[in-house]
Amino acid sequence: MPHLPPWSDLPTHEVTNQPPARGDLDLWDSDAALRDHAAAAGADVAHLAGYGARIGTEEMQEAGRAANRHPPELMLFDAGGRRLDEVRFHPAYHRLMEAGLGAGYAAVAWEGAKGGHATHAAMVYLTSQIEPGVCCPMTMTYAAVPAMRADPALFEAWVPKLTARIYDGSARPLARKPGATMGMAMTEKQGGSDVRANATVAERDGDAWRLQGHKWFCSAPMSDGFLTLAQAEGGLTCFLVPRWLEEGRNRIAIQRLKDKLGNRANASAEIEYEGARAFRLGEEGAGVRTIIEMVHHTRLDTAMAPAGLMRAALDHAWHWARHRTAFQKQLSDQPLMRSVLADLALDWEGALALGLHVAGVFDRRGEADRAFARLGVALAKFLGNKLCPNVIYEAMEALGGMGYVEDTPLPLLYREAPLNSIWEGSGNVICLDILRTLRRAPLAGEVLAEELGRASGQDRVFDAALKAHMQRFPRLPEEAQARWYVESLATLLTASVLIRNAPQAVAEAYVGTRLGDGRGRVAGAIAGVETEPVLARLGG
Ligand SMILES: Cc1cc2nc3c(=O)[nH]c(=O)nc-3n(C[C@H](O)[C@H](O)[C@H](O)COP(=O)(O)OP(=O)(O)OC[C@H]3O[C@@H](n4cnc5c(N)ncnc54)[C@H](O)[C@@H]3O)c2cc1C
Repeated sequence: MPHLPPWSDLPTHEVTNQPPARGDLDLWDSDAALRDHAAAAGADVAHLAGYGARIGTEEMQEAGRAANRHPPELMLFDAGGRRLDEVRFHPAYHRLMEAGLGAGYAAVAWEGAKGGHATHAAMVYLTSQIEPGVCCPMTMTYAAVPAMRADPALFEAWVPKLTARIYDGSARPLARKPGATMGMAMTEKQGGSDVRANATVAERDGDAWRLQGHKWFCSAPMSDGFLTLAQAEGGLTCFLVPRWLEEGRNRIAIQRLKDKLGNRANASAEIEYEGARAFRLGEEGAGVRTIIEMVHHTRLDTAMAPAGLMRAALDHAWHWARHRTAFQKQLSDQPLMRSVLADLALDWEGALALGLHVAGVFDRRGEADRAFARLGVALAKFLGNKLCPNVIYEAMEALGGMGYVEDTPLPLLYREAPLNSIWEGSGNVICLDILRTLRRAPLAGEVLAEELGRASGQDRVFDAALKAHMQRFPRLPEEAQARWYVESLATLLTASVLIRNAPQAVAEAYVGTRLGDGRGRVAGAIAGVETEPVLARLGG
């Protein structure tokens, strides 16, 4: 029998070469790229500094974990068998909603202060890093506001509560709540992109309407109201359906919660209007025109969220690389790891820069700005979301096996990564929408040309790429080539924003690898990039 030391002396459980716990994260102070691009977009940086410090605390990180570990529960009936149609969330979910709405996530863009949309967009970016699930109801609440302008009386009753900076998660009629949230229910089984195929019907009932029909996706069924589409006699029409009426629950049955990929904190549901009382929003037959105002604003958030998810993944990967050695050398000093992370960091900063730049355009109200906002937001939504899953997957691999383990945030980020591409216009639909905008609104194309022109003459590779794009696409492409066209345009626009607003070395690295010929198909297959200034953007 060999002589063994007492078990307590064995080194097996001495923890070495594992990164320290993160503790409180100041998501503003640690993110130089956010500070640069938020300032360039005209956002309220003092507000963001406070929010970034608060939302990154260990307490909020733990709330994010708890809200996903304890998913919402569907409560169809009470103990006596009476219908409830409610969803019960873990207290951590409510805490996060309170933190976001209380800090003005849904309000700041509508309070008249300068840079409100840019500030809001940066809040989406920050919140997505901690818990992306709560962003969904808060985003829809923000985005519903402009659609509500279609009816002054409804606007007056609802908008002060949607923008009250108060979260009230109770199930009560609007009049008894100081703050309210708004959801959206458009998608039906037979067609989501093509909402004109909606089969839900609306019939007049005195001064209101009754809706009958099934909605296949309704992601925030505990909202106080829903903007929805239904077929009225005059065609597809937009309605506001309150969840509660003064006399009690409205007739909205929750059928089931979706067993979905992505975050577990939010409760995506299928609902049934069973003669639900509704109020018309906008003209009869003008449903798409009315709700498109909401869609336009949710698109801004779906363009910002991937930047936040990428940031969170890279922040953890960089922390890991700086505290872990392999083969006696820090991972963050290994040349190949540096190439991989720098390459990923360029996609993240590009998405952040373009998203915030477009948000800044939302803050300007000229005719040209409005035309460009519709185009710019679609370009940003398409490119950022197409890059996001791969960036997160590679960041996950940078952690090795632990990237695959739920003790780190990487699995949640990975599951969430594809979502913002799918809703509010899936990739193909967005590309076709971009072609449509350029065809119908020449002003949008003119502003885009000006935007690209602003970076001309500063980087030889950019200039050559812009020229090559124009030669390849002398006119709008056929539908089949729309993705190629949009990817090229969105990359050029990102490069133009980086040339103007990012450190020169970062812009040069982006342009050289994305528009030059110095890159393969997989992350890190790059050459000629000075990694130091790019990785410095990751902080630490
Ligand atoms: C987690 C989650 C939450 C959601 N929450 C909500 C919600 O709260 N409210 C709500 O109303 N909806 C919600 N949705 C639904 C979402 O908006 C739709 O799934 C989306 O709009 C796509 O519609 P669809 O599923 O019917 O797909 P389809 O419209 O059938 O599209 C399928 C595919 O075909 C492509 N396609 C469509 N038309 C064309 C074309 N002309 N040429 C080429 N390709 C085309 C699309 O890009 C897509 O890739 C949610 C979805 C998810 C995943």
